[in-house]
Amino acid sequence: MDLFQAPDYYQVDDLLTDEHKLVRNTARDWVKKHLSPIIEDAAQEARFPTELVNGLAEVGAFGSYIPTEYGGAGLDQISYGLIMQELERGDSGIRSTASVQTSLVMGPIYNYGNEAQRKKYLPKLASGEWIGSFGLTEPNHGSNPGGMETRFKDMGDHYLLNGAKMWISNAPICDVAVVWAKNEEGRIHGLIVERGMEGFTTPETHNKWSLRASITGELIFDNVKIPKENLLPNKSGLGAPLLCLDAARYGIAWGAIGAAMDCYDTALRYAKERIQFGKPIGQFQLQQKKLAEMITEITKAQLLAWRLGTVRNEGKATSAQISMAKRNNVEMALKIAREARQVLGAMGISGEYSIMRHSMNLESVITYEGTHDVHLLITGLDITGLNAFK
Ligand code: FAD
Repeated sequence: MDLFQAPDYYQVDDLLTDEHKLVRNTARDWVKKHLSPIIEDAAQEARFPTELVNGLAEVGAFGSYIPTEYGGAGLDQISYGLIMQELERGDSGIRSTASVQTSLVMGPIYNYGNEAQRKKYLPKLASGEWIGSFGLTEPNHGSNPGGMETRFKDMGDHYLLNGAKMWISNAPICDVAVVWAKNEEGRIHGLIVERGMEGFTTPETHNKWSLRASITGELIFDNVKIPKENLLPNKSGLGAPLLCLDAARYGIAWGAIGAAMDCYDTALRYAKERIQFGKPIGQFQLQQKKLAEMITEITKAQLLAWRLGTVRNEGKATSAQISMAKRNNVEMALKIAREARQVLGAMGISGEYSIMRHSMNLESVITYEGTHDVHLLITGLDITGLNAFK
């Protein structure tokens, strides 16, 4: 059974360069050979498959658009998006690991770090030797990260960091964490915290029904001494972490298409093979409606993501444009996962098929990196000029 049909109803492939197609096909092939065969068991066992880390690095999933001189793949935004799409066709949790590593850890170190920081951290993160995490969310501050309570104090020759971050992807296995904290004046800065620093612990969050193949945890700082050279010097304020989120959200807009494609492919094949009342269920109008609406929504999402990618390549995409694409495409994928599950009847809830796993995963994707509601309010603010957050 070929799991990698690629719906392309509007010849979106014709909009891609040969390099885009090569990058996409390499990632697709790797997912098919290495990710798909093990992912259902990993998710059932709630295990992050560390055996995939080297392969993720090889397909350019760690630092896709970071320049090659720092170990990145030096690709453009469309290629980055296509890699995220192919990874999430396999599993949103594995795409999450790549999103965090590329856009939330390597991104801020590259954009806000100095040369010494870039040289020290980026090559090891690109090769997968080090795994990174991004600490913004706190127990009392999710959608409103500006209220964060994590603080650092200038002690002369070092900083002293106190506080806690929660719901952090990769936290329990991270070698480095980019952590957002306020200084004594209440200004937000990024600090690079390294495993092994005294007072830094990363307990795992258990019992997730979603993103079970991604490892999640807390980052706890109890009087952690941070060397002064670990502060990211080139940007501060809430805009610094928010710009990182823009990059990750853009990748999610593509990733969600991958999950939706996999659900659609599975439902389409099943509908053609499953016989009820003496004919394939795909011959019933109600099932055709589901499938026809799925391919329509996937096609619209592909065009949205591709256009956003070209605008991002020109450096002109706004945060509000990215919010719209993340919100639309994740909702599209979640709806398709739920509909596709019904097309499979009882088989839809079985781990024999990927649909239920995608559906449960997408419940996190619609909440993290800005909730569905928050992205709608960002669009609302952009078009009215009136701020619903205040
Ligand atoms: P809340 O902010 O408490 O929101 C609860 C509800 O209230 C939501 O429906 C929200 O839309 C709504 N709401 C909030 N404010 C408003 C408003 N002004 N108007 C209308 N409705 C509103 N964070 C990180 O920093 N790093 C990570 O690596 C990371 N990984 C994650 C991995 C997983 C699996 C999950 C589930 C989360 C992760 N997060 C991470 C956290 C994630 O970004 C937050 O969960 C998200 O920002 C929402 O915050 P919250 O859960 O505190 O919800």
